Amino acid sequence: MIIDVRKLKFSGKFESDFAFEYDYQGDLPAFYGIVLDGPVSVSGTSILQGDDVYIDGAIKCKIVGECARCLKRVEREWSCEFSVVYAVTRQDEDDYLYQNGRVDLTPAVEDAILTSIPTVIYCKSDCLGLCPSCGKDLNEGPCDCKK
Ligand SMILES: [Zn+2]
Ligand SMILES: [Zn+2]
Repeated sequence: MIIDVRKLKFSGKFESDFAFEYDYQGDLPAFYGIVLDGPVSVSGTSILQGDDVYIDGAIKCKIVGECARCLKRVEREWSCEFSVVYAVTRQDEDDYLYQNGRVDLTPAVEDAILTSIPTVIYCKSDCLGLCPSCGKDLNEGPCDCKK
């Protein structure tokens, strides 16, 4: 996911839109139990101010995991937004650096995925989960454990 800053400067375009699809190669922490399924789409706008590149973007992908209460497989669309600055020399500790006029969005996108992806998902917000004694899925009705 490269934005060619020299090309933008050359064409006199200081604001431009981008759209990429890519396959996430990083690892999500395994305890999340959630994986990204299929390509990640990234789109947004880049604005050039001097040598600084301001990026506002949105990330969309499908996530797959187990409901944290009943362990059913859950698939859903997930999206988040991110805003970052790419600079040639770091002025702020949150800045991303770029060289040779090429902004590679990958690290910013992967950081945004890691910080925004949910750590637990549910099949529905009022999922009743499994009975801790007999393991029955309580969404399908009560079990006989109650004394
Ligand atoms: Zn559930
Ligand atoms: Zn039970």
